[in-house]
Amino acid sequence: MEYQMIIGGEAITSKNFFEVKDPATGELVGKCPIAEKGDLDAAVEAARAAFPAWSGLPDEERQGLCHAIGQVIEDNAEDLAKLLTREHGKPLNGIGSRFEMQGCAGWSHYTAELKLPVEVLQDNEEGRVEMHRKPIGVVGSILPWNWPLLIAIWHILPALRAGNTVVMKPSSYTSLSTLKMVEVINTVLPKGVLNIVTGKGGLGAWMSEHPGIDKISFTGSTPTGQKIMNAASQTLKRLTLELGGNDAGIVLPDANPSEIAESLFWGAFINNGQTCAALKRLYVHDSIYDEVCEELTNFTKNIPVGNGLDENNIIGPVQNEMQYNIVRRLVDDAVSAGARVLVGADPVAGPGYFYPLTLLADVTDDMDVCREEQFGPVLPIMRYSDVEDALSRANDSEVGLGGSVWTNDKAKAAAIACRMECGSVWINSHGMIQPDVPFGGVKKSGLGVMFGIEGLKELTTVQSIYGL
Ligand code: NAD
Repeated sequence: MEYQMIIGGEAITSKNFFEVKDPATGELVGKCPIAEKGDLDAAVEAARAAFPAWSGLPDEERQGLCHAIGQVIEDNAEDLAKLLTREHGKPLNGIGSRFEMQGCAGWSHYTAELKLPVEVLQDNEEGRVEMHRKPIGVVGSILPWNWPLLIAIWHILPALRAGNTVVMKPSSYTSLSTLKMVEVINTVLPKGVLNIVTGKGGLGAWMSEHPGIDKISFTGSTPTGQKIMNAASQTLKRLTLELGGNDAGIVLPDANPSEIAESLFWGAFINNGQTCAALKRLYVHDSIYDEVCEELTNFTKNIPVGNGLDENNIIGPVQNEMQYNIVRRLVDDAVSAGARVLVGADPVAGPGYFYPLTLLADVTDDMDVCREEQFGPVLPIMRYSDVEDALSRANDSEVGLGGSVWTNDKAKAAAIACRMECGSVWINSHGMIQPDVPFGGVKKSGLGVMFGIEGLKELTTVQSIYGL
C-alpha cells in the first residue's frame, strides 16, 4: 500500500517511495512517499496560509479542537496501535502500542486544558504593564523513531494549543503510523493547520534552513540536534531540542534488591531500552551487588519476547538494523573487555532484529557500553563502595537527561538527587513522565523543556505592553 502525505488538508502522493519493513518479520508494511523540496515548500506555504485564521480563533475554540484531536485518536486507537506495532516492532500489549495510543489521547486532552492568560506585571499610578504570550508562527517538528506517535503528539499539541501551525517530518523508520495519525487528526482540523512530509535523507536539514519555518521542535540524537542548531542560526529560528541521554541510577546499600528488581527492569528495558530517559548505567553498592544482579536476572529471564502482534509478548525486536548493530557491537566489545554476561548477549539469526534482553555485570566505566548511549535492550551494572565516587561517576557524562536513586532513606535520596547533573531525577523508579511536569535535559541532552505550562511557553513569544 502506498501512503500519502497531508499538505493543506489534502492527501498528496509523490513520484518516489521507499519500502517500510516489519522489524519482527522483514515483511513489507507499506510504501512511504519521498517528498521533494517543492513538497516541503508547499507544506510551509499551507501552514503559513492557515496561521492567521488559526491563531485568531477564540481561545475556547482552539481548546475544543485540541480536545477533538484527543477524541479522534481514541476513536482510531486500535488501528493505529496495530500499524505502529507492525512498523515499529513494539508489542501491542505491555508498555507497547496500545499504551502509546493511550498516552497520545491523554496528553492531547491534558494539553488542551492548558491556558496562558495575560499576566499583569504592574497596575498602579505609573500605569499598567501586561505580558502577552503570542504564537510563534509555523513550527517545524522533526521526530525520532522510538516513541513516534507519542512524541508527535508532544510536538503537535502545545504548538497548536498556543496558536501555531505545524509542518511535521517523522523518522524514515516510522513514517507510516505518523502519516496515518496525522490523516486522522486532519479530519477535525481546518486545512493547513497540521501538515506532514516524509522522506529519507535531507528533508530535516531543509526544514532547519527553511525561511518559512519560525521554530523547530526536535527530538532525536545529540549530533543531529547540533546540526539543526547550526542550520537554524541563519534564520534565528526558535529551538526546543530534546536530545540523547545516558541515564545513571545509583542503588544505595539500604535498598531491598527483591523489592526494586521489577522497577529497575522497566526503568532500563521500557520500549526495549529504546527510550531517551531509560536507565542506561546502573551503579550498585558493593554490599548488595550480587543480590541485585541475581534478582534482576531472575526477573529478566521471565519476560516474553517476540513478535509484538502476539498478545503474549511484552517486548519486541529492536526497531532497525542500524540500532541492532550498535547494540551488538557494544555488548561484544564489553564482553571481550571482561564484562560478565548474567543473561542474554546471545542473539540468534533472524528473521527480525531480535536481540535478547541482556544484563552485564562487572562493567567498568571506560567500556563503550557505559560511555555511549546504547539505546537498546542492555543494562551494564557497575560496582561502587563509596557513594561520592558513584555520584561523580554518574555525573561524568557529556549528557544529562535523567537519573535515579534507589533507597528507602528519603533524606539521603533528596541529598543525592539534587547533586545529579540531569533534568529529571526519580527516587525508586526511572523514566516515569507525566504531562504536567516539565521534562528536558541539561548539558548535551538538549535545550528547553516539554510538557505542562513551561512546555507550552516554549511555543510562544513574549510581548510586553506598557501604558495600558
Ligand atoms: P536521529 O537524530 O538520528 O534522527 C531524528 C530525526 O532527525 C529523524 O527524523 C531524522 O530523519 C532527522 N534528521 C537526521 N539528520 C538531520 C539533519 N541534518 N537535520 C535535521 N534533521 C535530521 O535520532 P533517532 O535515532 O531517530 O532517535 C534516537 C535518539 O533520540 C536517541 O539519542 C534518543 O535519546 C533521542 N531521544 C530523545 C528524547 C528526549 O526527549 N530527550 C526522546 C526520544 C528520543
